[in-house]
Amino acid sequence: MSKTDAKTPTDVTIGRRGLMLVISSPSGAGKSTIAHTLMDADRSFSLSISVTTRKRRGSEVDGIHYRFIDRDEFIRLRDGDALLEWAEVHGNFYGTPRGPAEEAMRNGHDMLFDIDYQGALQLQDKAGADVVSIFILPPSMAELKARLLRRAEDSSETIAIRLANSRVEIERWRDYDYVIVNDDLNQAYAAVRAIIAAERLRRERRPGLEAFTQMLLNEPIE
Ligand code: 5GP
Repeated sequence: MSKTDAKTPTDVTIGRRGLMLVISSPSGAGKSTIAHTLMDADRSFSLSISVTTRKRRGSEVDGIHYRFIDRDEFIRLRDGDALLEWAEVHGNFYGTPRGPAEEAMRNGHDMLFDIDYQGALQLQDKAGADVVSIFILPPSMAELKARLLRRAEDSSETIAIRLANSRVEIERWRDYDYVIVNDDLNQAYAAVRAIIAAERLRRERRPGLEAFTQMLLNEPIE
């Protein structure tokens, strides 16, 4: 898919604050696929690369999917305030490096966070107005299990832990701005794009609207 840049000259004049888009879901509900499709399609987003103590899966690349680190380094980063949020998920530590996220926001860029509900709550606390959160639900528990088995990258023990934890995660749907049931990936993705399009137009995010509307009002009508 080719990247799009839908900015018009007027969009540039008005400008806008960056979005912190948080997408969470139980393992296997399709969140990562949606996140990566979005990254390929929309050049204004960058993906926040988390650090984790989880073991790398065969298909994963260090520095692209995660930065894989050991527990000592994780604790050093966490205690040195280098993480914007962090959580223990399925028995491993995960955290969002502070630097890239803060730089993106300063420059008015959008950032995508594929993090769990504990991290989503921390970001909402710290950056409330800039955060837009989406929760992805599976169409059924049977389908969730089938997707985890199809992925075939985790041991049966890991899959069992993730399925058990999915109930706790699903209970958190009320903490999110938007909830999407992913029974069709294309439709779920289209819903995410619609949310982003609408959220980008919110007046609170568009600092130049004041000046732009004044300019319109001052323009003589011939
Ligand atoms: P996985 O091991 O399948 O890649 O991720 C497990 C869970 O950890 C997912 O729900 C994912 O969204 C979450 N996660 C990944 N990175 C972070 C992070 O930096 N912070 C938090 N709080 N959760 C994360």
